[in-house]
Amino acid sequence: MAIIGIDLGTTNSLACVCQDGRAVLIPNSLGENLTPSAVSVDENGEICVGAVAKERLISHPEASASSFKRHMGTNKTFTLAENDFTPQELSSFVLRQLKEDAERYLGEEVTEAVISVPAYFNDNQRYATKEAGRLAGIHVERLVNEPSAAALTASRISGEEEGSYLIFDFGGGTLDVSVVDYFDNVIEIVAVSGDNRLGGDDFDEVIARSFCAHHHMDYDGLDQQKKATLLRLSEKCKRDLSEREETVLVWEAEEKKMPLNNLLLAGLSQNLLDRISQVVDTALRDSARSIDEIDEIVLVGGSSRMPVISLYLQTQMKRKPGMVASPDEVVAMGVGIYAGIKERKQDIKDLVLTDICPFTLGVSVVNYVDNDNPIMSAVIERNSVLPCSRTAHYTNSCDNQCQIEIGIFQGESYYCQENLKLGVIEMEILPVKKGEACLEVRFTYDIDGILEVEVTDCRTKQMRRKVLASENLRLSEEEIESRLEELRTYKLMPCGGIRTKIVMARGERLYAQTLGVRRQQVSVMMQKIQKAVASRNDQLIAKCLKEAEDIFDRLEEW
Ligand code: AMP
Repeated sequence: MAIIGIDLGTTNSLACVCQDGRAVLIPNSLGENLTPSAVSVDENGEICVGAVAKERLISHPEASASSFKRHMGTNKTFTLAENDFTPQELSSFVLRQLKEDAERYLGEEVTEAVISVPAYFNDNQRYATKEAGRLAGIHVERLVNEPSAAALTASRISGEEEGSYLIFDFGGGTLDVSVVDYFDNVIEIVAVSGDNRLGGDDFDEVIARSFCAHHHMDYDGLDQQKKATLLRLSEKCKRDLSEREETVLVWEAEEKKMPLNNLLLAGLSQNLLDRISQVVDTALRDSARSIDEIDEIVLVGGSSRMPVISLYLQTQMKRKPGMVASPDEVVAMGVGIYAGIKERKQDIKDLVLTDICPFTLGVSVVNYVDNDNPIMSAVIERNSVLPCSRTAHYTNSCDNQCQIEIGIFQGESYYCQENLKLGVIEMEILPVKKGEACLEVRFTYDIDGILEVEVTDCRTKQMRRKVLASENLRLSEEEIESRLEELRTYKLMPCGGIRTKIVMARGERLYAQTLGVRRQQVSVMMQKIQKAVASRNDQLIAKCLKEAEDIFDRLEEW
């Protein structure tokens, strides 16, 4: 049974397997390596994942969802066609699809996986990712931080095992910059920095706003559908600029145009570029490395393809970022290689991936100035190497106290209430004078980012242990089992009809987006496909689909 590596991304997900010491990306049923991380519930109650769901985001927004990775570890629910799902349940559908695709590709059952997560993912988000794996019927062997995976790929491809890497991961909605060392077969994240509100989508919005300003339109006043259409056109325009120097944004329905080139885009995005620069500076500063000590800049994430970005990095860092592999695939290949190591393949030598704890973990202590506003006392500091175990001692704050409540927090703020509360441990103590009790608090944070807290009363040796989390965000064993049962009733769409589904979903979107003759063209084509499907004539279906794809391509060109 193979172990696969999965890059469960915000926009796209990929699966990879290690064969003969090489990372091999696993194509989905459409032959593509990237499966959009989108889920939709269709009219028959079947779950579609990937390209079909991505099309349905526009034509059936009420039944579809994407970007749920951003809400992992929170109790947000998504309602898709009157079915409620948590972010981890939606992620589990994506994982189930990747598992099925991998099983078809490999011809064997896949029950284990290594999944990548952002280095800054907190305890809840990591736990939710593991839960998503479980709900998909996958045992999650290990969570690997995305920058570690990227460094692993970079070192394998460049053949230069040793070195310091700056991993620049720029996706649709987030920027993560990490400094990773790879020496003596140990991969160590030295520093991470990021902005989780900065991504390629911001560049789409900059273009869309500029288009509106150009045509004296009010961007914020556009209705939801128009905004979505304009953003989609802007994104296309942005992607065009990765291939050629200039392009034109044409909004057919509004009969409006705007020329754009990379220089103009750089000017429009100056604010965003400044924010990027701040994140890079923080990562370098935290790592105590100068840019001259970095051996390679590794570009990760779809937005790294923008020439505006690579040129900006080149001027800021006075060197050209290398392109070790496609930016979308770097992380997936790394987890694939790591999955190979896990399987103990002969041709890969053992490797240690150390991670750092990207945030501080600590307990609440009394604030003598403001009793209601406890202060954070750090037990494990940010950037500590994992696994790590630290002990701290605390005492009682008033005479004859019989019980001590120890709040466990995560974050960098001085005041606990501004940090994330992970849980509480309550401890009975013998009543003594203020300052005479002695409690030993041990934090053990493991390689998967799971935190265990032990509190021992030094006098009585009484001990309480807890695996900590925001309890209300976690499911009990029984709840997981019952949810597993329920989720099994949702069937993934069989891959045979997926191409038809995609073309039809695309038709529905184009129908919504066009008017007049073009809309009629779409409608005629869709009816033709439906008739062909009803006839069950495979040749006719294939012919109609090809014809529709050509027409739809041309309509999109327009
Ligand atoms: P990711 O989250 O890594 O999949 O990245 C998604 C982001 O990358 C989206 O904002 C896309 O618009 C952007 N993107 C993907 N391909 C390109 C490209 N060729 N040029 C510019 N941006 C791209």
